[in-house]
Amino acid sequence: MLTPNPFPLDLGGRTAVVTGAGGIMCSHFAGALAQAHATVCLLDINLPAAQAAADALTAAGYRAYAYRADVLDKAQLESVHAQILAAHGPCSILINGAGGNHPDGNTEDEYFRPEAVEPALKTFFQLDLNGFRRVFDLNFIGTVLPTQIFSADMTGRKDSCIVNISSMNAIRPLTKLPAYSAAKSAVSNFTQWLAVYFSRAGIRVNAIAPGFFITNQNRPNLLHADGSLTPRAEKILSGIPAGRFGDISELTGALLFLLSPQAAGYVNGVVLPVDGGFSAYAGV
Ligand code: NAD
Repeated sequence: MLTPNPFPLDLGGRTAVVTGAGGIMCSHFAGALAQAHATVCLLDINLPAAQAAADALTAAGYRAYAYRADVLDKAQLESVHAQILAAHGPCSILINGAGGNHPDGNTEDEYFRPEAVEPALKTFFQLDLNGFRRVFDLNFIGTVLPTQIFSADMTGRKDSCIVNISSMNAIRPLTKLPAYSAAKSAVSNFTQWLAVYFSRAGIRVNAIAPGFFITNQNRPNLLHADGSLTPRAEKILSGIPAGRFGDISELTGALLFLLSPQAAGYVNGVVLPVDGGFSAYAGV
C-alpha cells in the first residue's frame, strides 16, 4: 500500500536503486522514492515480489522497474547495472535493503548453561558455519557488492547518496542471533568507513537502524499463527519505551531526511535509529 510521504522532497531526474525491494520495508521505500519523483529500480532475488511492487507504483502513475538480482551474485548485478544505465541513466541513489536473518545462523539457547545443556537445543557449539556465513554474507557482502557496482555511477556527481539498512542488533546483539548481529554491526561500521572514503567524491553514505517492524523475515518469531504475540515478542516489547512495534511508514521520514541535500547535506556516516526508544532504554 502506498503511504503518502510525510513531507515533500523532489528527487526528479534521479535514478534510485533499491535492493530487497520485493520485501515489506524496501517496497515501502521504493514507494517513498517514487512519490519524490525518482525513477525507481526495484531489485530482488524474488522477481515476482519486486514486479508486484513495481506494478503497484506504475499503476499509481510512477516510474518503477523490477529486476531480478541476487545481491551476492556479481555477474548478475553487473548485468542489471548495465540494463539500468542504458534504460534510465546513472544511479545516484542506492538503498541497500536486501537482508534478513535465518535460523541456520541462530543458537536456540539464550544463555549457555554447562550444567543444563538440553541435547535437543542448538547451542553455539552446534552452529553450522555454513549457515552462519550465509546470514553474514547476505547482510554484509550483500551490502558491499551492490555498492561497489552502483556507486561507480555516482563518483564525481553532485548529491549522490547511499543508505544502508542496519539494525538494533548492530548496537546491542539480540540473544540467539550471532550471525545476524555481527553482520549488521559490520554494515554500520562499513557505513562509516565508506562515508569517509567517498567524502571527497560527492557521495554521502548513511544508514538507518530500524527497531522492530513486523515483516516477512521476523513474523514467525514475533507472531503465532493466530496473530497473538510470541514470548520473544513480549520480551522485545518490554524493551521498547514506545510500547509497540513500529509501523513501516514511520521509517519514511528518516529515509527522506538522509536523502535530502538541503536537510542532510552535512550529515555523513551516521547510523540513525528509528526504534521507539529501544536503543536508549536501559531496561529499568
Ligand atoms: P523482508 O523479508 O520483507 O524483505 C527482505 C527482502 O530481501 C525480500 O524481498 C527478499 O526476497 C530479499 N532478499 C533476500 N535475499 C536476497 C538476495 N540474496 N538478493 C536480493 N534480495 C534478497 O524483510 P524486511 O524486514 O523488509 O527487511 C528489509 C531490511 O531491513 C533487511 O536488511 C533487514 O535485515 C532489515 N531490518 C528489518 C527489521 C525489521 O524489524 N523488520 C529491523 C531491522 C533491520
